[in-house]
Amino acid sequence: MLTTSGQGCKTEIFKSAMAQARKMQQYCELKDECQRQTFLAHFGESLNRKDCKYSSNPYDNCLKASS
Ligand SMILES: [Zn+2]
Repeated sequence: MLTTSGQGCKTEIFKSAMAQARKMQQYCELKDECQRQTFLAHFGESLNRKDCKYSSNPYDNCLKASS
C-alpha cells in the first residue's frame, strides 16, 4: 500500500518545481531589469549591465537602457 511519507516526498518535489517555474516566470515578466543580472544574482554573482548591453547576446531591456 502507498505510504503517506511517499506522497509527501512527491509533494515536496512538486512544490520545488512550482517554485522554480514561478521564478522563471518572474524573470520573463521583468520589464526594466536585466534578466541576466537578476539570474546571476540568484546564484550570488554580480553583473554590470553595460557588460550585458555590449555582450554578444544582450537582453532587450539592457539595449533600451540609455546608460
Ligand atoms: Zn542585461
